[in-house]
Amino acid sequence: MSLYDQYPVSIYNSLKKEKEVFKPIHEGRVGMYVCGPTVYSDVHLGNVRTFVSFDVMFRYLKYLGYKVRYVRNITDVGHLVGDADEGEDKIAKKARLEELEPMEVVQKYTNGFHDVMDMFNAIPPSIEPTATGHIVEQIEFIKQIIDNGYAYEKDGSVYFDVRKYSQDHKYGELSGRNIEDMLSNTRELSGQDQKNDPLDFALWKNAESGHLMRWPSPWGIGFPGWHLECSVMSTKYLGEKFDIHGGGMDLKFPHHEAEIAQNKGCTHSGGANYWVHGNMLTVNGRKMAKSEGNGFTPEQLLTGDHKLLERGYSPMTVRFFMLMSHYASTLDFSNEALQAAEKGYKRLMASVNLIEKLGQPGGSVDKEKSAELTSVIDQALKDLSDDFNTAKAVASLFDLSTKINTFYQQPGELAKIDPEAFEYAIKHFKGIIFDVLGLRNEGEIAQDGKTLDGVMQVLIELRKQAKFSKNYALSDKIRDDLKEAGVQLKDEKGGEMSYTID
Ligand code: AMP
Ligand code: ZN
Repeated sequence: MSLYDQYPVSIYNSLKKEKEVFKPIHEGRVGMYVCGPTVYSDVHLGNVRTFVSFDVMFRYLKYLGYKVRYVRNITDVGHLVGDADEGEDKIAKKARLEELEPMEVVQKYTNGFHDVMDMFNAIPPSIEPTATGHIVEQIEFIKQIIDNGYAYEKDGSVYFDVRKYSQDHKYGELSGRNIEDMLSNTRELSGQDQKNDPLDFALWKNAESGHLMRWPSPWGIGFPGWHLECSVMSTKYLGEKFDIHGGGMDLKFPHHEAEIAQNKGCTHSGGANYWVHGNMLTVNGRKMAKSEGNGFTPEQLLTGDHKLLERGYSPMTVRFFMLMSHYASTLDFSNEALQAAEKGYKRLMASVNLIEKLGQPGGSVDKEKSAELTSVIDQALKDLSDDFNTAKAVASLFDLSTKINTFYQQPGELAKIDPEAFEYAIKHFKGIIFDVLGLRNEGEIAQDGKTLDGVMQVLIELRKQAKFSKNYALSDKIRDDLKEAGVQLKDEKGGEMSYTID
């Protein structure tokens, strides 16, 4: 019997608005699509939260024995400033401001995103397709939607006909909006708009002269609309019908609503069976966002170099902080919460390190105590299967960590545990910590055979960052730590300290 049969997964399906038992389309296999970043700037910690949440789902499904194909795209064209159909392309705008070729912007921030994912120990997806790499497929998809009567061409652009679609399907089924409300919330069409109806959205936009990103199409030179790529690439790599589609809560409307409409408009299938939405990382109750000015980068988090940060925190502290809440709840950033997470993380790592030092279980086995140990780890797995509830699973891990401490201090207690039950509990204790929650033992990263922690960790991360900026602004605390560790620091022009690492 596989683990997924033993611990059947249930998922809160945003489409149905209820928790459902997860049944993949193909026995033993899962197809999962997650909307990736728009690579026009550094990711902030809010973005990281969403990707860490889906990383844990990917990891857990694999842990249960599913063969998972995880597709997470890179949005490198079509996402316009303001998220609607007007305005400059975010990437093209950045390219203009920085005097770069748009693909240089894409490459720079894609690399940066990968480094950040790596820093937080997120496993790369099975496929990471880009929108610009799928222009041909997007054009074919649009043609089919036009043939099916749900889109129209106007002056070199193609728009999805929401009213026409609504005659046959329910537009708004995911976000729970109805079309009349949406209409009353929509501003009147301006004279420059080419669409017939304000609810319609672009599948293809005519490129005006000077628009940097452009491709030929049956409707003239242009570029694809933002929502289209995800419909097209999920269909291409996972099929017209697949299992799970994820993204941040803020993508529900219009992005995911439009995706469902495009899928049905093209293939008559709505794409994913289960829609999963991660909640936002907030700061003092407000969504962390670049535009709010409250979005700090992972690098700032490491160094503590931001007004919201009392000091720096290690990547695994931050990852653990995120996992101490359920992915569907909002998570408010605070130094206290991070410091609590740091303690919790260290406590778990200390227990893991202690396992090696324990004696042998068994001898005078107490069945009840052995069953109790098994039930703690069973509970953690049940919690993870219950809509990936990492917050509850962590509580069970802490229970087990207390037991491990007791076993160490009182070997007589360990002797009461059946060796098989002990092995089972330890296997899953480590499995959940490292394979599912994706924590790394930061104190154990060895270099030249030596054990590193604290400041050396920071150094490793800083070295990675050196790829981006030579002059790194260091907080006083980190600077002192580095000096203490014998790292040479020198003053650079502009007063910023830079560092050299041997
Ligand atoms: P973007 O690059 O803006 O398309 O965002 C990438 C992902 O990060 C999307 O899934 C967003 O929903 C998610 N996201 C953006 N801001 C936050 C936040 N404050 N907390 C959690 N996720 C976020
Ligand atoms: Zn998407």
